[in-house]
Parts: sequence; C-alpha cells; structure tokens
Amino acid sequence: MTASSATSSAIRLPAVHLILSDAGCEALIAEYGRVQTLEAARALLAELRAMLLAAREGGTAATAAGAPDTSIPSLLAMLATRLREQNTSPLRPVFNLTGTVLHTNLGRALLPDSAVQAVVEALRWPMNLEWDIDTGKRGDRDNLIEDLLLELTGAEAATLVNNNAAAVLLMLNTVALGKEVIVSRGELVEIGGAFRIPDVMTRAGAVLREVGATNRTHLKDYDEAAGPQTALMMKVHTSNYAITGFTKSVELDQLSPLAKKHNIPLAVDLGSGTLVDLEQYGLPHETTVRETIEGGADLVTFSGDKLLGGPQCGIIVGRKDLIAQIKKNPLKRALRVGKLTLAALEPVLALYRAPDLLPERLTTLKLLTRPATAMRAQAQAILPQLQAALGAGYVVSDEAMMSQIGSGALPVDQLPSHGLVVRAAAEGRISNALGVLEQRLRALPLPVIGRVAQDALWLDLRCLQEHQQQRFLDQLSLLPA
Ligand SMILES: *Cc1c(COP(=O)(O)O)cnc(C)c1O
Repeated sequence: MTASSATSSAIRLPAVHLILSDAGCEALIAEYGRVQTLEAARALLAELRAMLLAAREGGTAATAAGAPDTSIPSLLAMLATRLREQNTSPLRPVFNLTGTVLHTNLGRALLPDSAVQAVVEALRWPMNLEWDIDTGKRGDRDNLIEDLLLELTGAEAATLVNNNAAAVLLMLNTVALGKEVIVSRGELVEIGGAFRIPDVMTRAGAVLREVGATNRTHLKDYDEAAGPQTALMMKVHTSNYAITGFTKSVELDQLSPLAKKHNIPLAVDLGSGTLVDLEQYGLPHETTVRETIEGGADLVTFSGDKLLGGPQCGIIVGRKDLIAQIKKNPLKRALRVGKLTLAALEPVLALYRAPDLLPERLTTLKLLTRPATAMRAQAQAILPQLQAALGAGYVVSDEAMMSQIGSGALPVDQLPSHGLVVRAAAEGRISNALGVLEQRLRALPLPVIGRVAQDALWLDLRCLQEHQQQRFLDQLSLLPA
C-alpha cells in the first residue's frame, strides 16, 4: 500500500449512498434524475477529498481555519448548487446596453410577438413546410414567403438560405463557378467574423477580378475588365466603413446599362438591406431592396436579421431564371433554412404591408426610432437605484450619448440617445474600478452589458425596453459586492 492511499483512507467523508438516500436529496433526484445526481455527488466527494488531502499535506494550520463543513446537509447544499450550475444553459438572455441596436455578438434583431408566437406554434406542430395544402402534393419551402418578398421588393423571384454570407456564397457558386466576377477594389469588404469578399469568392469557386483603386473606380474600369471570361459584375455595400475624400464609385444607374451591354448579370450584396425608406421614420436613408431591383440589379442578397428585423437568414431576390438556377444548386440543400426561420420571417415580412404602423410593431424599428427623451426619462428613474446598488465607489450620472444601428447598417450615422454613465468615485480608491464594475454587472442573473470608453462605463438605455425595465431594477439588489 502506498503512502498516499494510506492517507486518503484517513479522510472522513459520508458515503455517496448516504447522501443519495437522505430525505434532503429527494427534491434533487426528482428534478435532475438519479443518474445525474449520483454522478454529481461522486464528483463533489472526489473534489472534497482531494482538497482535504492537499490541505493536510500543506500543513495543519490551513485546514483548521478553512476546513469545509462535510455534514450531509452542507454536502446537499453544495450538490444543489453544482447541479443548478451545470443545468444552466450557456445561452442566456442579457441586457444590451451597448448602444448598438443590431449587435451581432448579442444576436442582432429582436423579434415582434407575432413572430415569437409563430415560432412556438412551429415547434409544437407539424407544419406544411414542403407540402402544398391546396393540391395535397409536395411543395417548396421558399413558396411560403416568396409572394410576400416579391410584393415588398418588386423582384421576379426569391429564395432563402441560412444567412447572407450563405446567400453570397450560393449566388457566386451558381452564377460564376470557374469564371470571373468583377468587383471594385473599394468594395472588397471584410465583415466581422472572417467574411471577406475575396475569400468567399475563392470558396465559391469564382475568380475575383478586381478593378479600380481603393478610393476611385470608374465605369471604364468595369468596361475594360468585361469579356467572355466574365460571369458576373458585383457591387458590395460597404457596410462597416466609409471611403471619404477624393473618391469615386460607379452607381447602379451607370453600371446596369454597362452590364446589359456586355450581357453580364449584375449582382448587389446589400448586406443589411431594408425593405422600406427609413427616412419616413426620421432615420438616415439606406438604399432599399426595391430601389436596387429597380436600379437594374439582376440579383440582390441581404440579411434577415439586420435592418429587416427578422430571424437570421439570407434572402436572394432577382431575375426568375437566375433564382431558378440558384435553387437547383446542390449547395442550396446544405444552406436551406428550417421551419423556425420561416415561421418567424413570414409575420415579420407581413408587418411591412402596413409601413405606417411599422415603428410600433417591428421591434427593431421601434428601438431605432425611440426618442432620446424616452431614454432620458428612463435614465432619471433608474439612476438613484443604480447609484445605491453600486455604492460610494462609483458616481452615476445621466447623460446624452449616441447609439449605433449596428451590423454594418449605416456605419457613420449615429442616433441621439440617452443613458447612464458610471465613473470611479475617486482615483485609485478601487483598483481597476471599471473592470470590477463590468464584472459585477456581468455576474447578475441577466448580465448587463455596457460599453467602456473615456474612463467610464456607458449604459445606453435605447435597448432597455419599457416592459423589461422592472427586471433590470429588481436584480440590482443582487449586484455582487
Ligand atoms: C452583414 C453582411 C454580410 C453577411 O451577412 P450575414 O447575414 O451576417 O451572414 C454580407 N455582406 C454584407 C455587405 C454585409 O453587410
């Protein structure tokens, strides 16, 4: 027998069956099942045993002060915590107070209740996803939303895939496999998360033909590059940057006749792609999908969960013959959307039939059009409670700030907003005060995510919806010290 096993046999802990058969364990077994509860109890005992052994070998002083209570009630409490933690979903709701409405890392658009209800229904019921109720024959899932998309965009045909990156990939692979695609050097976009036009082009099997310069591209650049090897001319929305100064780009009204002259289809990756003129709601203008189709684009790709305000998906609209080719590509099967996406998208698209009611009904637009006065009233109501919860180490003030749309929509436009700004009370009193503060807010049951800038934590209240404000306040009492 080795020395260590001799020592371990001397550690006294209750046997696992005594923990499991204790009346206090019944509720845990009922909730988590016997198998999981037993596993967790074994793991807990093994950890405690190792800890006690280490403490003993490290000297007796440490064990006397810090010895854990190994009575059965105490072990059951530890077990309950452990089981609760391991059964908490890693995907959790948070408060987005970053000021970025369509925050990619926080899941982009929030959906209206009509879409939420439709998703719940689709989860519970078989749906006619690919089954035509009128004829009793096999149907096509794209048909469920195609008419609505045509009505809203003026296009001839439409199809749906998993996201806009997939839409671009599928379009290029279908139309330009082994052939050239002409793109301006000013539009070789990198979106976050490794989506770069040149890389997608390569993976799609197309050959990028760059034309022009970073700041200036002329019509003759496209004209000279076009030839029998060309499959597509493409414009890409410069979603997350703006080129200013001595610049020139070729707009659709010029490029479209040129593409027609060469008999080459013209595609536009709009990125965000809005279905309505945002100016009518007091927001900056963003080219609509309809304008792009009317401007002569043969194919347009855009996201479902950016300005459109729907679920994650990629939408391709355009010429009937090209969409038909795209739908026949075997990659379409790999990139298609599921019933939850379709269930959520249809009611969102339907809201666009009443554009005058959209700011009330479409959550994304509601958030984007909230007046700064609404956020200021909220800030003033919340301030005293946040100040009390944070304690004397911090000073909270309510201030004007600027929100962003996010997800590459209108990157240079900002929306006047209002929120709370938290600064450290006196220099050095709490070391790394803002880091500590961020951590405390992240540790809440619904983590609060703000933005650190200029030695302060900025909590933009634009996305704190009024019906969620009480949840925000209620959990402040749980703010860890
Ligand atoms: C956002 C964006 C994409 C990627 O869209 P996802 O829906 O995130 O896949 C592609 N192109 C442009 C121009 C974009 O702005």
